[in-house]
Amino acid sequence: MIKVAIAGPRGRMGQEAVHTIMKQEGMELVAVLDHREIANNLSDYDQFPDTYDVVAYTDLNELFTQKKPQVLIDLTTPEAVYTHAKLALEHGVRPVIGTTGFTDEQLQQLQKYASANKIGAIIAPNFAVGAVLMMKFAAMAAQYMPDVEIIELHHDQKLDAPSGTAVKTAQLIQENRPSHKQGHPDEKETIPGARGADFDGMRIHSVRLPGLVAHQEVLFGGEGQLLTIRHDSYNRGSFMSGVKLCVEKVVELDHLVYGLENIL
Ligand code: NAP
Repeated sequence: MIKVAIAGPRGRMGQEAVHTIMKQEGMELVAVLDHREIANNLSDYDQFPDTYDVVAYTDLNELFTQKKPQVLIDLTTPEAVYTHAKLALEHGVRPVIGTTGFTDEQLQQLQKYASANKIGAIIAPNFAVGAVLMMKFAAMAAQYMPDVEIIELHHDQKLDAPSGTAVKTAQLIQENRPSHKQGHPDEKETIPGARGADFDGMRIHSVRLPGLVAHQEVLFGGEGQLLTIRHDSYNRGSFMSGVKLCVEKVVELDHLVYGLENIL
């Protein structure tokens, strides 16, 4: 039985993850971390049934010391996640991080700490298997069609832009695409930001609208042709098979893995 704790249980992803772990054979939800004092137990939360007997903590140190989970799933915010991940590693608890918005420096520090202490950790900017395939296919296509722009589309409550998935896609493409600036050398933006964010000469555009969940298009332009690779997550259930897989894998790891594609 893998003992799991979840940070951010009231969030859209967090609620889905609570239900997933509660239903999962071979996993036990031993505690949740909430930064607001809602109730002492999930059974007293409006979002969950009375049968969910899981203690809620507001202090992560206390949670780790009292409940000794093996894995912490974090689905909170870019501001909180680094502290949570670092504290987890310090307690020998393996983090499975879905929260996006890490800086390169934070990633490197966690990577270093996990390797030095031989503790498994997974940071997965996208838990949807289809999205991971989209990234892999995009990296493959970039070898032959190096002119590429990424359009990511998310719900309007998302805090970070561009999305972790868009950045990860651009990084994978970068490994296969000779660095070059796209568009006309003399192009000018008459409204700042019109051409999107610049990643190694590729442009990334972030759309935020109500009604959307998580979507991405990678466009490859060539002489007389356009290749579009698109993935859509229509609901948060699309992420849960990835969450389950990460919990199972992270207990076998002795270092930090960034990206679901590296454990599939
Ligand atoms: P959300 O609905 O805003 O949920 C975030 C939850 O975290 C809220 O309940 C918030 O509580 C809580 N929270 C904030 N700070 C906290 C802290 N210090 N400790 C404990 N809980 C805290 O967001 P979401 O849509 O579920 O997304 C959560 C994160 O997952 C985001 O970073 C998002 O980009 C990412 N995400 C990842 C994937 C993936 O596949 N990896 C997919 C979708 C989303 P309050 O509302 O009370 O502040």
